[in-house]
Amino acid sequence: MARRYLNELGFTSQGKGPSFLAAEFLTHSPAMAKHSNQAGPAIQPAHPSTVRAFQRRLIAWYQQHGRDLPWRRTRDPYAILVSEIMLQQTQVSRAMLYYERFLTRYPTVEELAHADEGEVRETWEGLGYYNRARNLQRASQEILAKHEGRFPKTHEDLTALPGIGDYTAGAVRSFAFHQDAAILDTNAARVLTRFFALPPEQQTNRFLWSVARRVTPAGQAHVFNQAIMDLGATICVARTPRCAICPVKIRCRTVQERRKVRNKERS
Ligand code: SF4
Repeated sequence: MARRYLNELGFTSQGKGPSFLAAEFLTHSPAMAKHSNQAGPAIQPAHPSTVRAFQRRLIAWYQQHGRDLPWRRTRDPYAILVSEIMLQQTQVSRAMLYYERFLTRYPTVEELAHADEGEVRETWEGLGYYNRARNLQRASQEILAKHEGRFPKTHEDLTALPGIGDYTAGAVRSFAFHQDAAILDTNAARVLTRFFALPPEQQTNRFLWSVARRVTPAGQAHVFNQAIMDLGATICVARTPRCAICPVKIRCRTVQERRKVRNKERS
């Protein structure tokens, strides 16, 4: 089981490996479920020191190696929303070409809400998936109509806007308002799955969101969220993770399991 799982994660190994359970690491806690106000199964890290080390190392690495992206230089929720919508189906390098241009043309919620739809489409042209621009304009119109132009700050209000799901709401809340909001995108999900060596049955959206909420440090979500996404985008990449230079490798359960498999093969 371990070998097949490691292979699925991009590691290759010869020979037989021992079975392992992520449940040793993250356990369901009925007591916590009862008192938790978070959606999804309650999860209690079995090793809090590992989670703390994960947070500390990740943030320290990000502060030194994080990508300098234009939307990381602002706390304007509208600008952050524009970047997040652009990034939904577009690579970072491509979104960067359009981000400044779009904001120059429509610098505020009001200007986008009142803009001509055809012109918005024209500005978006080349990015594809025009539905995103239409939702962005509709969201701006709703912010004016339902929130008197004040940018919504809660998960409920944000996810009620067109085109905004759990990830985008978490990104806006943490990056713009510095709230303790978790995020889960493909990169973050891959890092969590590998770091905690979650078996396939725990690689569900619901379970991973619960893990993300549990490991996001209070007061530092805005940095931690950027850090975990950067780690997934640059080090813990899909095909061949660069474990040798990974800041969290010392505590990574997948690396530990890979080592166990190798040691067993040698003995
Ligand atoms: S050591 Fe880092 S890069 Fe390697 S699997 Fe673990 S989290 Fe990913």
